[in-house]
Amino acid sequence: MLTISATDIPPERLEGVKVKIFTSKDEFIDFIGPIWKEDVDEECELVRKNGETVVACFCKDPFYCGAEIGKKLSSVSLGVVDTTTYEDPYKLVVGVVLTAWTFDKYKSNRMEKKILFYNPNKDKLKKPIEHAKAQMFARELATEPPNIINPKTFVDRIFESIKELPIEAEVLEKDDLEREGLNLLLSVGKGSDIPPRLLILRYNNGKQKIGLIGKGVTFDAGGYCIKPAEYMRGMHADMSGAAVVASATLWAAKLNIPISINTYIPLAENLISGRAYKVEDIVRSYSGKSVHIGNTDAEGRLILADALAYSKKDMNNLTVTLATLTGAQIVALGYDIAALYATKDEDANLFEEASRYTNEIVWRMPLYERYRKYLKHPSADINNISKIRQAGSIMGALFLKEFAPERWVYLDIAGPALAFEGNVDWASEYPTGWGTRLLLEVMERMG
Ligand SMILES: [Zn+2]
Repeated sequence: MLTISATDIPPERLEGVKVKIFTSKDEFIDFIGPIWKEDVDEECELVRKNGETVVACFCKDPFYCGAEIGKKLSSVSLGVVDTTTYEDPYKLVVGVVLTAWTFDKYKSNRMEKKILFYNPNKDKLKKPIEHAKAQMFARELATEPPNIINPKTFVDRIFESIKELPIEAEVLEKDDLEREGLNLLLSVGKGSDIPPRLLILRYNNGKQKIGLIGKGVTFDAGGYCIKPAEYMRGMHADMSGAAVVASATLWAAKLNIPISINTYIPLAENLISGRAYKVEDIVRSYSGKSVHIGNTDAEGRLILADALAYSKKDMNNLTVTLATLTGAQIVALGYDIAALYATKDEDANLFEEASRYTNEIVWRMPLYERYRKYLKHPSADINNISKIRQAGSIMGALFLKEFAPERWVYLDIAGPALAFEGNVDWASEYPTGWGTRLLLEVMERMG
């Protein structure tokens, strides 16, 4: 358990392990002393100075410097990080938190950890600390095991968390989904004893209206196209998109961002039972289009298709979708980078610029229309899998585009959201809550 806060009390007057950052090598060597001189390519060192433990860092990039510091502080109960080295401490603070964060609530020997960020001007720390808290909230939801978070308990947690916030919530339960005809979402959830739901959150605080849609598959066994054991690991976090859009909505309200948000979270478990949906099913979607089920493990695009079509009622100015959609995204871009798709260049630019600030890297991929033909099916309007094995992330995007509003941004976040077991050097070994800060930054720039 990690708590973070800002302080304007100088580190020397505080308890705990102190962190000092140097931007020049000479300064660093002066501080750590001659015995270290041979070996200064180490970026962070724990050193004893005047009887105190100090982490001394020589780093050029504030984000990765923060990540190195966070690793050093992950086993320390109280750390004090001096942020005055950088004019804007944003990247440093979030870097520290991402690697210091651990998920130990189910361990017998859980550890209370605290990190204080020092700056004489505490206002400079407000945004980075709130953004980091938002990401920790999303990470915790994504990291919770699937026997704890399911389509019902996800909703309960969010209801609990919005009590004091100016956010209205509505849930479409099974009967409502049947009445409204969200049959793709119902199909994916059919195999579970816990029925699917569509959670809708509304925050009204400005003329610009953004729609946020996140994939909420609380466990993905693959359905009858069942995953082999090694690919089923991590599938408790197949609701990362849902956790991220929920958290971004909560923190937009906490930070009073001047924008209006409509958030749609389709929630389902993709399991096997006598009731589960099958390959070769043809399902009438909420949009009216019929969808052939070519693979029950391509379920994320199905629940999102209904949510996207449903969101059109609200006439949002921009709709954004986040989903751990395809393994192909990881093949293409690895764990550090998300695939960005946008129907308008100006929106792609907005996301690219915001992502440079938050250090959540995106790479734009094409919505290449000539590939649409691979989603054709002789008996239905569209197939949920492609005829070809290549370009899997693009094929997922093209499927979703059939149901999406005209102005639409989509992030396939499979790699960066599911990065765990040490796949990345910017986060501890859990699902990451990637994209929470990016959404907050985008909304701040739009509002
Ligand atoms: Zn799947």
